[in-house]
Amino acid sequence: MDSLNEIWACVLSNIASSGEFSEPTYNLWFRDLELVKLTNTYAIVDTKTQLKKDIVSSRYIYTLEKYLTDVIGFEVPITLEVYEETSFGKIKIVDEPKSPEIIFGDDIPEGQEGIQGNIDEDGLTHVLYNPLYTFDNFIVGNTNKFAHAACKAIAADAEHSYNPLFIYGGSGLGKTHLLYAITNEIILRRKNTNAVYVRGEDFANEMINSLSKKVPMQYFREKYRKADVLLVDDVQFIAGKPSTQEEFFHTFNTLYEDKKQIILACDRPVKEIPSLEERLKTRFEWGLTVDIQPPDYELRFAILKSKAIKFGLNLSDNILMFLADNIKGNIRHLEGAIKRLHATSLLINTDLTFDKVKECLQDMFSSSMPTGITVDEIFEMVSKKYSVAVEDIKGKKRTKELSNARHIAIYILRTITNLSLSDIGGYFNMHHTSVLSACSKVSEDMKVDPTLEHNVNEMIRTLTGQ
Ligand code: ADP
Ligand code: MG
Repeated sequence: MDSLNEIWACVLSNIASSGEFSEPTYNLWFRDLELVKLTNTYAIVDTKTQLKKDIVSSRYIYTLEKYLTDVIGFEVPITLEVYEETSFGKIKIVDEPKSPEIIFGDDIPEGQEGIQGNIDEDGLTHVLYNPLYTFDNFIVGNTNKFAHAACKAIAADAEHSYNPLFIYGGSGLGKTHLLYAITNEIILRRKNTNAVYVRGEDFANEMINSLSKKVPMQYFREKYRKADVLLVDDVQFIAGKPSTQEEFFHTFNTLYEDKKQIILACDRPVKEIPSLEERLKTRFEWGLTVDIQPPDYELRFAILKSKAIKFGLNLSDNILMFLADNIKGNIRHLEGAIKRLHATSLLINTDLTFDKVKECLQDMFSSSMPTGITVDEIFEMVSKKYSVAVEDIKGKKRTKELSNARHIAIYILRTITNLSLSDIGGYFNMHHTSVLSACSKVSEDMKVDPTLEHNVNEMIRTLTGQ
């Protein structure tokens, strides 16, 4: 008896004939299980479905371990996984990133249906090809071009020119999209490269499972330390968890010393991750840090246009311009708007008029002023940050500090609310052209003054809760 199949057949037949379980129970929870890997220190069993995985792991895992020990003569912990049979071999199903809500259709670009994966020597793989997120369908603009270029370079040849690559930006701005685009590109074009994508949250959970011996530590370690390219999404979630940080520190060092590429995505700059160990902070900044900012008008327009085309929605440029002007915030909102319009156009079965579009998205326009944020809060925030009184920001005095704070307040109002230029001007007794020039000034200054850029973006993030 030397093959996995024979060992497993023996285990199952012992369970079936043990009298511990009724026949229906055996058929339901045991019969389809499959041993896919066995080493000196651990075993992996494929449960085929998530439901079975949940039930077996809570009720029958000790039974499985006991009967396996009986057959092989030594104890090994069993890890349960869900795999899918494909023409590429067995593919492990990993958790999808929180993907956008999909109303109609499968949202998969033509010609890219199906899944593929890198296959290691066991015929198993840790990544799934996710056709929702590729470089082809990532629209590049001023606010994300550096992050995009850095990711493209890594996907193309992993020359390790910047290691690690640290990408930060608010929610819904395309970080996960870029990480998956790299993973997908590697799966398709660099067959011998092992790309491992993991969310910080899952890394932390797997660490806990290993500590509590649900998953053998060695299995957990090998999975990450054998990566050629490790992509950690939402890395902020490992902060504040001592043993997870410790493990990640060693994973990082091992990969870094082996000149393997590490890419980290985070919802804030390194310095602002609370409770992250200093030694990790330092390492995260060893390579290249790039940020993604909320989309500017041009990018909003381009994204709306491209998503409308993808959904076969016929929207005039006028309508698209109106939407780009009125739906601010993140790219997920823009996508949501197009999906909703698509759904509506299918229902009414004609092209959408300007009025229909406005009616359909009314609540999105108001919600682009993030819920709960009032104009007063924006004034308060700027007043506190620059130690000037709110009345002075709104007033006419023109000292350097006051003009500066005033311009910044205008810029923030313009960026995160959907107030028109004249509405904003109303708060300052200003003509709308002066509002516009204040916005351009701040935006130009931010390009050359990193402290200003940081402060303004920090205030925006705090206000919008991103
Ligand atoms: P994050 O991880 O930063 O929260 P995601 O990568 O999940 O954001 O992006 C949110 C949604 O917006 C996804 O559906 C993604 O495909 C889409 N998206 C983000 N940036 C772009 C872009 N530049 N071009 C096209 N779609 C984008
Ligand atoms: Mg994400």
